[in-house]
Amino acid sequence: MDKIQGGYSILTYETLGIPTPFPVGNINCYLIKNEPITLIDCGVYTPKALESLTDQLRNFGLELGDVKQILITHAHPDHCGLASVVKKYSNAKVYLHEKEINKAMDRAEHLKRIELHLAYYGLPEDLRHEMHNYFKWQLDFVQPLKKFEVIEDGHIFTFDGAELQVILTPGHAIGHLCYFEKSDRLLFSGDLMLGSLLEPISIEPYRRERGLVDYIESLKKLSSLNISLILPGHGKPMSDIEAHLKRIANNHQQRKKQILDIIKGEGKITPFRIASRLWPKLNMFLGISEVLGYIDLLIMEGKVQEDQTESRLIVFHVKPFDTLNENIV
Ligand SMILES: [Zn+2]
Repeated sequence: MDKIQGGYSILTYETLGIPTPFPVGNINCYLIKNEPITLIDCGVYTPKALESLTDQLRNFGLELGDVKQILITHAHPDHCGLASVVKKYSNAKVYLHEKEINKAMDRAEHLKRIELHLAYYGLPEDLRHEMHNYFKWQLDFVQPLKKFEVIEDGHIFTFDGAELQVILTPGHAIGHLCYFEKSDRLLFSGDLMLGSLLEPISIEPYRRERGLVDYIESLKKLSSLNISLILPGHGKPMSDIEAHLKRIANNHQQRKKQILDIIKGEGKITPFRIASRLWPKLNMFLGISEVLGYIDLLIMEGKVQEDQTESRLIVFHVKPFDTLNENIV
């Protein structure tokens, strides 16, 4: 049992490791034992995950029916796939940010948009087919959410003896939320530390969220909170927050330079070609997502531009003004 004592409050929570069928492994769902009994995230929609959640609650003398509320960090299957089922047993209220609603209600539609975007970024036919099958497989692990409550940045959840503040931290998902316990400076961080992912806004014209730009802003927000412990959706708690943030920032600088060098070397190139040069074996949803993040940063810095044709997006290097002037002289 993890018992945290602060000046004015005590938040009592347990970490429940729930199995997922995904390469990321278990998801950490957090059980808050102060009233009202709360889950932060709740796992995938599989009998195994439901059984695991039920068994672990029982270890603490609780049934599914005792859960009063579920706070969702973001609407990916490992975090909210099981929410509808838990709600059915418990009538718990399910909370999430409004920008996650579409994904939670209709994941099939969201994945269809991603497939079209990936094609636009250069993903070839055979890999598109593979991706389609992978996404189709993923749909089995989500039960669409029909009833939920919408929460905004800054909202405070009050418990018996503790409070949690909602912090909007877009990047990994556009409506990603962290939950912050102020007295002991704990952050339930969902997948914020895992990096940014592609989030389509529209098809024709193809528009996307600037995931990595948002992500970097979200990390800056964390820096200002003086957090003592991060409790992530996957993996172990992190205590040396500044060191983690510094490491992430250094990685960003290196990766950005690497991607700029590839673009410079190629002249014109699709995001897919960049991703496959860097990570030939990676799932290309992840690879292209990562590359697009750096393209957004490089566009903001005026170093690359996008050339959008009807069916394909190509990026190219923009020569700095001084080089251009030298050429003219
Ligand atoms: Zn996750």
